[in-house]
Amino acid sequence: MPEPIALPSRREAIARARARGQRVAAVLPIHAPRALLTACNVHSVEVWGPPGVDPEIGASHFQAYTCAIVRNATSFLLAGHLDDHDAVLIPHTCDAMQGMASVLVDFVRPKMPVLTLYLPRGRRASDETYLVAELRRLGRDLTALSGVAPTDEALHAALDREAAADDAVAGLWRDRAGLALSDRAFFTLLRTREFLDAEAFVEVARTAPRGERKQRGIPVMLSGIAPEPMEIFDALDEAGAHVVADDLAGVSRRIYPRVEEPDPFRRLARSLLGAAPDPTLGQPIPERVAMVRRRMEESGARGIVVYNPKFCEPELFYLPLLAKGLAEAGLPLLHVEHEMTESLGAQTRTRIEAFVETLRGAQ
Ligand code: SF4
Repeated sequence: MPEPIALPSRREAIARARARGQRVAAVLPIHAPRALLTACNVHSVEVWGPPGVDPEIGASHFQAYTCAIVRNATSFLLAGHLDDHDAVLIPHTCDAMQGMASVLVDFVRPKMPVLTLYLPRGRRASDETYLVAELRRLGRDLTALSGVAPTDEALHAALDREAAADDAVAGLWRDRAGLALSDRAFFTLLRTREFLDAEAFVEVARTAPRGERKQRGIPVMLSGIAPEPMEIFDALDEAGAHVVADDLAGVSRRIYPRVEEPDPFRRLARSLLGAAPDPTLGQPIPERVAMVRRRMEESGARGIVVYNPKFCEPELFYLPLLAKGLAEAGLPLLHVEHEMTESLGAQTRTRIEAFVETLRGAQ
């Protein structure tokens, strides 16, 4: 079992946002402009599944091969768990997420507005121009929701706060060796970024317990979409491995670069487009292979576990060439697909044990 660590809850974060007079939006994965939401006085609370809901409630709206994030998130909404939110924001992460937006807008019609953001897949000047216009359109939708139209100064200030929170994520990784946290506790802390405002997250990072690192065994990197269920960390620990780097969509893939640019919408667009190579952003596969390989080599990871919900098409598309590119550098990859349930299956545990054993044997 993980050691207890006192962290603010989602419920507390929402209550604090309400007390500040903010609207609250449920935000679906992956790349969403947090700064634009806060500048429009809207607090974002992310929905990555979650596990523990009955997926059948939402599943009837989708094909059987739709990923668990979309099925569970739709179930979560239909079961009334988002009734106290003022809007749902769905970025165009992939076809599955776009399908969810269409189903909500055209059929389910929840009582709160459904907002969208269409992200370009290229990195040309025209993609940046398009994204600036798209962010301005979303900004108008958020203003209609909250009544707050941000000034350029307000949006720049919100961008500065989000950049500080991204720095805090990177800083936690830099200080990992001096944090008295198991992997599960460390990622639980990192994932408070999904629902805390930027300043609150920076404070959580600043006060993370220091001391002897609670890790042992074979160093591995963890990639994939979201570490749900969190038992994945217990399974790695029990198998004799620990996580020394991550490439999770919900964590390190969203450490955006700092951008200097007078127009805050262009600054936001450039920052989003400058994210690390990610299948959902359409960067070339060789760039992604090079980035993952570099991060593994820098962190000393001996293998990588790619942990995805079943039927995650963007991840599956990149996987064969990622595995091949890493194998050429002597870096083994284990791909684990899972249902978004509350506990990890025995088969997954066995595969993780076998993978760690292979890495140990290669020492
Ligand atoms: S990126 Fe993958 S897991 Fe996320 S919504 Fe799309 S298909 Fe589902």
